[in-house]
Amino acid sequence: SRKFFVGGNWKANPTTVKETNELIELLNKAKITANVETVICTPFIYLSLVKSKLRSDFAVGAENVFNKDKGAYTGEITPPMIKDLGVTWTIIGHSERRDILKEDDTFLASKATEALKAGLKIIYCCGEHLEERKAKKEKDFVSAQIDKLIPAISADKWDSVVIAYEPIWAIGTGVVASTADAQEMGKTIRELIAAKVNPGVAAKLRILYGGSVKSDNCKDLAAQPDVDGFLVGGASLTPSFIDIVNSPP
Ligand code: 13P
Repeated sequence: SRKFFVGGNWKANPTTVKETNELIELLNKAKITANVETVICTPFIYLSLVKSKLRSDFAVGAENVFNKDKGAYTGEITPPMIKDLGVTWTIIGHSERRDILKEDDTFLASKATEALKAGLKIIYCCGEHLEERKAKKEKDFVSAQIDKLIPAISADKWDSVVIAYEPIWAIGTGVVASTADAQEMGKTIRELIAAKVNPGVAAKLRILYGGSVKSDNCKDLAAQPDVDGFLVGGASLTPSFIDIVNSPP
C-alpha cells in the first residue's frame, strides 16, 4: 500500500544549462509503466528551469535547504524560496553534506522542521560509513541519526517525510548493498519509528535505499518488503534511470 518512490539526485553533475536541458529531454520522452512517484532533485540554480520544462508527472526537489525561513543568511536558500517555485521536495542530510560540509544531526533536524513548516516534503538521508559496518555498529549508528530526527517532526507531518537509507560505502562505489542488508536496515528503521512515533506512521512511511542502484540490481532490491523505493545518484544521469523508475514489482 506504500506507493513506490524513486528520487533522482543529480548532485553537482550538470554544470551547464545545456546539460540540464539534455537531462530534462531524456526524462520527458521516457515511458513510465509502473505505479511510482518520481522526484528529480537538482542543483538550486537549475530548479526553475527544471520546474518549467519537466513533465508534470515528475515532481522536482532541491538537494539541500537552509534551516531558517528568511533573514541575514548570506548565500543561503530557504524553504519558502523553494516552495514558491512550485518545487515540492527537498533532500536533507545527504552524507555528502554530513561528511564534506560537516552538517550534524541537530542542524539537519532543524532543517527538517523548517522545510516541513514551509510546506515542503522531505527526503531525509541516513547511513553508516564502512567503519561502523565493519564494527557491526551500523544499526546503532543509523538508529542514532533517526532518533535525532524524530522530535523535529510533529505528528501530523509524517505524511510529508520519506527516509532514505544510503550506506556511505555504497555511494558512487559500484558496491551495492545486498538485498538482505537493504531489507534489514529498512526493517530496523521502520521498527524504530513504530516504537518511538507510532505503528500507524511506521506502516505508511516510505523507506528508500540508495547507493549504486543500477538497472541490473534494482528489481531484486525493489522486491524487498522494506525497500519502498530508491534514491539514485549516478544512474539518474543516464537513460537507465527509466528502468529503475519502472522497477517496482
Ligand atoms: P549513487 O547512485 O551514485 O551511488 O549515489 C547514491 C546517492 O548518493 C543518492 O543520493
